[in-house]
Amino acid sequence: MTCREAVRMGEQRLRDAGVPEAANDAWLLFSEAAGMDRTHFFLEQNEPVSEEQLQTYDRLLRSREQRIPLQQILGTAGFMGMDFLVNEHVLTPRQDTEILTEEAIARCRDGFEVLDLCTGSGCIAISLKKLYQGSLHVTAADLSTEALKVAQENARRLGAEIDFVQGDLFEHLPGSFDLVVSNPPYIPTADIEELMPEVREHEPMTALDGHEDGLYFYRKITAEARQHLHRGGALLFEIGCDQGKAVSALMQEAGFINTEIKKDYGGLDRVVLGQLPV
Ligand code: GLN
Repeated sequence: MTCREAVRMGEQRLRDAGVPEAANDAWLLFSEAAGMDRTHFFLEQNEPVSEEQLQTYDRLLRSREQRIPLQQILGTAGFMGMDFLVNEHVLTPRQDTEILTEEAIARCRDGFEVLDLCTGSGCIAISLKKLYQGSLHVTAADLSTEALKVAQENARRLGAEIDFVQGDLFEHLPGSFDLVVSNPPYIPTADIEELMPEVREHEPMTALDGHEDGLYFYRKITAEARQHLHRGGALLFEIGCDQGKAVSALMQEAGFINTEIKKDYGGLDRVVLGQLPV
């Protein structure tokens, strides 16, 4: 079988398994199995694939046919121009979350104490530390020790100095912060069934399930944040696209001012932020 035929065959297999972007995924899995970039492929597409490469490719295709997310198979996901390790213990970083990260960076000032709650892979905390042009002290917390292992390894690989804390939201976090950022679980329990199998069956449910109305973590974090924020401190959330009004109202009831809703690249509400009075 030639390289070109192998990619075609993979595409067909993935399409038959109902994988949404079969052509893209088949190419990326072939590229991984054969250790071949685009240029290399273009030059060698009519050359035969080795037995060993075919075996590896078949193994990767089988995982994808079972709807294991592409990033979990490849082991990394791109976010804010960096590569983050991912596995089944962390939510795969989404492009949508870059909006939250950018809004947080825009509100950081030199010397700020920053907290990322529900850090997962650590993608937000690490991006803040790496991309803010100045000094920050960043703390990142998660309930899951398995997620924290991934986040710690990401911080080490990317050279970001972060304090990682295991705990339930603010549980083990003494002291206070200038900025708290969080992408908490926000899918209403009843909607979990409708998620793609990649997400529903292979991403950590504890990172997705926002309980009955999806707002459980916004309520808890907003209520507790006051005790953990300095005067004038900012709170920023990623939200589900229909949660903007509800989360803004929760923040206003808790005494936050200047609340704003920001949209993602698809024009959907994606971030709610606000601050405490000075
Ligand atoms: N945006 C994610 C999804 O739709 C959910 C992220 C979350 O619950 N924080 O799969």
